[in-house]
Amino acid sequence: MSTMSEEKSIPRVVLVGLASCFGCQINITNVEAHLMEVLGQIDMRYWQLTSSDPMPEAFDVAVVEGAVTTDEAVRTLQRIREQARAVITIGACAATAGIPGMAAAGYEPRANEVYGQAVPAIIDDIACRPRAVADVIEVDYEVPCCPIDPYDFVRVLQKALYGANPYERTSTLCGECKRNERGCFYGRGIMCLGLVTRQGCGARCPDLGRPCNGCAGVSPDANVKGARRVAQHSGIAPARFDKALEMFNQVTQGVQP
Ligand code: SF4
Ligand code: SF4
Ligand code: SF4
Repeated sequence: MSTMSEEKSIPRVVLVGLASCFGCQINITNVEAHLMEVLGQIDMRYWQLTSSDPMPEAFDVAVVEGAVTTDEAVRTLQRIREQARAVITIGACAATAGIPGMAAAGYEPRANEVYGQAVPAIIDDIACRPRAVADVIEVDYEVPCCPIDPYDFVRVLQKALYGANPYERTSTLCGECKRNERGCFYGRGIMCLGLVTRQGCGARCPDLGRPCNGCAGVSPDANVKGARRVAQHSGIAPARFDKALEMFNQVTQGVQP
């Protein structure tokens, strides 16, 4: 039987969803077996997907899904940062504003089409200002991709629970892809964003026969100018490459002009 002091030392975890499709939270439920192992190590105080109760006042680790689109979300994040010793973001929406970022692109003409000049302020605020979580508060650990790999989530959560080094490899996807020995799409004149995308997913899309669309975000090591040249050499116009790259990077600053 555990003593009171042992119970107190179990990390208290909350899982919060901001502007997102909740797909990353749902994906976490796809690893029941591993999840049960991890759940035995934590006190799961709050999981927004499973409860309409308010978030508790006290917790140790916060997991955040989704982009920041409202003042309320900013306040929630500030509260989370004040309280949590570790903040983990999950998914592209949280890391780069992902899908809400895409929705914001070209929003203005569409809103004007619907509302004329009288676009309600609340809609304007929500749709026009999606931000990555790291643009609002300091983030300690990140689980990338859209959706996340649930095994990756379990791995990162354990790192956060035990205070392991948050450093992740930053090089581009091509290194992982080469190890899969599948050849390169550019040899067939097909665009693939793995050239500039951060590695970590195991190059799972090229491994399954589909080009990477960059959901892990742009690698800090990426040579975007060089990638454009590679694309051009394979008959892909740089403007098309840039357009594809915008998809998961509407509001992030990592892409060189
Ligand atoms: S990253 Fe993708 S799967 Fe996850 S919440 Fe955002 S849109 Fe949904
Ligand atoms: S297929 Fe994509 S990820 Fe793989 S080596 Fe080519 S550019 Fe890189
Ligand atoms: S290969 Fe690219 S698009 Fe596919 S999961 Fe990895 S980073 Fe995302």
